Amino acid sequence: MLNSRLRYAKGSPAAKAWGILRDLSIQDFPINPRQIAAELGIVLWERELPETCDGILMQVGNAWGILVNTRIRLETRQNFTIAHEIGHYLLERDTARSCSLDERLNAMSATTQECDTEEGRLQKQAYLLSEQRANRFAVELLMPSPIFLTDAASLQQVGLPAIAELATQYGTSLTSTAIHYTRLSDLVCAIVFSENGIIRYFAYSNGFRENEYCYLVSGKPLHPDALASRCSNGSRVSEVLDDVPLNYWCKPKNQQLNKETDYRIIEHSRRIPRTNQVITFLHLP
Ligand SMILES: [Zn+2]
Repeated sequence: MLNSRLRYAKGSPAAKAWGILRDLSIQDFPINPRQIAAELGIVLWERELPETCDGILMQVGNAWGILVNTRIRLETRQNFTIAHEIGHYLLERDTARSCSLDERLNAMSATTQECDTEEGRLQKQAYLLSEQRANRFAVELLMPSPIFLTDAASLQQVGLPAIAELATQYGTSLTSTAIHYTRLSDLVCAIVFSENGIIRYFAYSNGFRENEYCYLVSGKPLHPDALASRCSNGSRVSEVLDDVPLNYWCKPKNQQLNKETDYRIIEHSRRIPRTNQVITFLHLP
């Protein structure tokens, strides 16, 4: 059901994550990143940090520690944050320069602003790449693809029911599990998160990316007849599954294909009450 095209270069975030699980002989799920931090000699501190910052890796003398924002209430998000910071530690500590907490926070907020210098732009690019790598590491530490794929393939169902089951099994958030599941899937499928009737972000499988009729746009209002619109705020409907015209969601990649098609896509939408988002699994049969 899910693809087995798993090739990761030596030294990649995925290879590092699998390596540390192997070195520490960790085989039980859900993975406990607090235990991994302890085994690596990294101290964890809980501290109130700005809202934009879930955690920070700090070096004090020869010691390393992770500050975790006490504003994070969900254990799944705390775990992801710790796993992400362990990623920074394992991927970058040899090149990292030690600096104070204020310096770190200032550097982080600078990268969210517009840069008008070449140096600023390069710094921002490097920062975003390092964040991407740490996220990749965290995903592979908590949900190692080879094992995750085997578990996903053993489930009877696909899409949202499978994602919910895997999230429980791996102790991960619905969001990160859904994205990981979809990216690894052999189906032509996508996962879309919308909020207040607007498509916020999405992820898709290789098959979806390669399909010439499947192109999603973020920041766009939901189609009024899409099932996700029915699950949006204020509605009494919290979950709908049906097939809908493909053009409710996607436009073709190539303008020349922009004639009406009668393709339909299976849409499964569910409101997430805690975040008020709607999660949608799209699957082109
Ligand atoms: Zn980071």
